[in-house]
Amino acid sequence: MDIFEVLESEVRTYCRTWDTVFDRAAGSTLYSEDGRDYLDFFSGAGALNYGHNNPDLLRPLVEYLLSGAIVHSLDMKTAAKRRFLETFNELILKPRMYDYKVMFPGPTGTNSVEAALKLARKVTGRPHILSFTNAFHGMTLGSLAVTGNSMKRQGAGVPLTNTTSMPYDGFFDGQTPDFLWLRHALEDSGSGVDKPAAVIVETVQGEGGLRAARASWLRGLAELCKQHGILLIVDDVQAGCGRTGTFFSFEDAGITPDIVCLSKSISGFGLPLSLTLFKPEHDIWKPGEHNGTFRGHNPAFVTGTAALEHFWTDRSFESNVAGLASQLHEGLTQIAAGTEGARVRGRGLLAGIYYPDHQVAGRIAAESFARGLLVETSGPEGEVIKTMPALTIGADEMMKGLDILAEAAEFVTGGKVAAKSIA
Ligand code: PMP
Repeated sequence: MDIFEVLESEVRTYCRTWDTVFDRAAGSTLYSEDGRDYLDFFSGAGALNYGHNNPDLLRPLVEYLLSGAIVHSLDMKTAAKRRFLETFNELILKPRMYDYKVMFPGPTGTNSVEAALKLARKVTGRPHILSFTNAFHGMTLGSLAVTGNSMKRQGAGVPLTNTTSMPYDGFFDGQTPDFLWLRHALEDSGSGVDKPAAVIVETVQGEGGLRAARASWLRGLAELCKQHGILLIVDDVQAGCGRTGTFFSFEDAGITPDIVCLSKSISGFGLPLSLTLFKPEHDIWKPGEHNGTFRGHNPAFVTGTAALEHFWTDRSFESNVAGLASQLHEGLTQIAAGTEGARVRGRGLLAGIYYPDHQVAGRIAAESFARGLLVETSGPEGEVIKTMPALTIGADEMMKGLDILAEAAEFVTGGKVAAKSIA
């Protein structure tokens, strides 16, 4: 038994599936102490959209740290925060014509969600929140109350209240008209569903099985919220920061949520940082009403600013991501074709394959690891193999990863994959 098993809690997860000690990383490759290298189709669960130790972010970070500049400052004014806010405004908000105030909650995704839920309740004076089947919003109690997974919910140890779960797009496999239940819940005074403060939604369900909402469904949802005076919260913690091909995952749908949660790759480097964005009219917080010691970490501002400047000054990065996404989807489609009933799910570089035999994806992930590829599973029973390569991955590395995945899938399912050296 090693120190991890002896001392670290049973709660640990990823180190069980990938049982090796990693000690270095660059771009899309991780290296283990025992000298093996692993291609990364996991990307820190979406926190490493620009790869590991991206030199364009590392350099300004190291220079900043060596310069004696401010590291910790709660929410005081710092030069690093000013630059981040100016850059985020100029490169992200203004070109998209989004008028949002920026709040820095605690540094994790669930902190951003908690702030969003609290604000929605404060703005509307209503406690109830609607969420969706298979949603994942984080592990603290408020976020857990809008999360679908029963195992995670049971961990709460207290009743998870003031929320109701509605069918997500595709939950009934297209057998019912969109919003059949949601519309009735809102409009029928006998529905038993209290009028909500907000609806919280992921555009692609990162943890819950990679279902991707159609743009028309998202527009329908935004419309329903507007009709009923309900705030729309988009949790873009995993699908945001370019993962689906645009900076915000809802841009193509043409909707403007009232509140947006961002985290994971907003620092660009894997440093903890979170933002909660909301329309200015909802900025009714009293000073200090939602506080915290670690809000707006300066090294994360430095790398976050560098990432925005490096990747988001024009549209070239987005078109590169679009090319990678079609390569990925083509490869996944070929792999899925090897197994009856298997289907590609997801959008952009947040995509995978659903397997009707719910044991298969986990076995493919294990076989991929044995062959030098990190991929995880998604869905309530881990029934979806989930690929999330860095947005900066090379086409050759993408091909290599898809080849390993295809080999692992063939090994597990016995089904032949249409072509090797995919894409
Ligand atoms: N929302 C979504 C959509 C997520 O995918 C996650 C993390 N997987 C979270 C919230 C929670 O983020 P964190 O783990 O940083 O608290």
